[in-house]
Amino acid sequence: MKKPLKTFLEKSEEKAFSAEHRKRINFNMGKYHVKVKEGKKQFEDLEKARKVANNIKAYTMQNLPYLLEEFEKHFTSRGGKVIWAESSEDALMEIDKIINAKKAKLIVKSKSMITEEIKLNPFLKNQGVEVLETDLGEFIVQVKGEPPYHIVTPAMHLSKEDIAELFHKEFGTSSDATAEELTAYVRKVLRGRFTEADIGITGGNFLLADSGSVVLVENEGNARLTTTLPKTHIAIVGIEKMIPSIEHLSIFLPLLSTYGTGQRLTVYNTILSGPRQAGETDGPEDMYVILLDNGRSDLLADEHMRESLYCIRCGSCLNNCPVYQNIGGHSYDSPYSGPIGSIVSPHLHLGKFEDFSHLSHASTLCGSCSENCPVNINLHQLLLNNRIYEESENLRSGTEKLIWSSWKKAMLNRKLMNVPSFSKNILAKLFLTKAWGERRIFPKFPGKSFNQLWKKGKV
Ligand code: SF4
Repeated sequence: MKKPLKTFLEKSEEKAFSAEHRKRINFNMGKYHVKVKEGKKQFEDLEKARKVANNIKAYTMQNLPYLLEEFEKHFTSRGGKVIWAESSEDALMEIDKIINAKKAKLIVKSKSMITEEIKLNPFLKNQGVEVLETDLGEFIVQVKGEPPYHIVTPAMHLSKEDIAELFHKEFGTSSDATAEELTAYVRKVLRGRFTEADIGITGGNFLLADSGSVVLVENEGNARLTTTLPKTHIAIVGIEKMIPSIEHLSIFLPLLSTYGTGQRLTVYNTILSGPRQAGETDGPEDMYVILLDNGRSDLLADEHMRESLYCIRCGSCLNNCPVYQNIGGHSYDSPYSGPIGSIVSPHLHLGKFEDFSHLSHASTLCGSCSENCPVNINLHQLLLNNRIYEESENLRSGTEKLIWSSWKKAMLNRKLMNVPSFSKNILAKLFLTKAWGERRIFPKFPGKSFNQLWKKGKV
């Protein structure tokens, strides 16, 4: 068995059978679903809004090269610097150059999955630079030494008690501190660090082609401090985050906040169009936007997979996926988990396609992801497309191929189908017990096949 698949199965089993994990996820997801139901009421015609969002993204992807150049033209006209990074390595190398030029020692970050994708934090640590997460959830998982659990709510798997215990151990706060006390503690720690930091690093929720801007959406205000207090701001953004015009935010901002957290609008929505201009009081002296490809151009070129680039990372498909709800975010071993993570992880340059192709099989294909995607992405079809690609590239294991070819042979052979059931039961036990697992009752073939019963007139 391939190692990534084995690790996935082990981690999934551990989470799926943990009553504690289930309790926490059910609790947090329960709250999410109630809020989202309420948030959706703000749309007069939600289905129309989803279709419009899908159309805008389709247009964007068809015109992406032009829109990226438009973005660059407008952003640089206000003194911003654009860096094109084909891979994670390119992005890290460019960040390193900036760090060296600025002699940076402390970097503050706001929540960004793309920095997880390029493995920014371990890289910075290796370079001897201190990096501090400033989003509350990210701060908690950073202290715990874990990757984010969810693309929107990184510490969803932890209870308030877990966090109080963690802070007690790490910072000596009271072990029964309330949520307010814990938040106040983090706020106090972070405030001073924002002013000490040399560089602020963020991702970007949207890129606006017509104004050359990066849009940041957040609830805590930490991204605003990250982008305004340090003298240098670096935004690392995937090229697919583009939308043509600032006008289109009127549809994307409410969709993102409603499907992300159930809010009508996220608390802080910031549009940054370059560094501080003459006469302005706030903002960094230098602002860089790193436009990351890392496999996205290949998705763009593939008409069967292009739709995956429409994603606005709201997390709704994760929260509505029965598989995610059982196995949790860490089992995926990718910065992008859940249905959308299973779709894009094999294509982004996170490893080889085969390292993540098993994720597309971790789905019931119930379609709940597609039904609950604000951009109307046909997610379950994309999962199937990955499976088709895997098959066409001959990436299935030898054992699996053997099982399927034997099954096909048997199904097409009447004599084999009619062999006595005890032989079928022995063969099935021999080859399928492990795959079936210990926790399910192994099925038994009936005494007679349908064909035999039909001939005897018993059906
Ligand atoms: S695929 Fe759709 S539902 Fe899933 S995170 Fe992206 S936008 Fe949200």
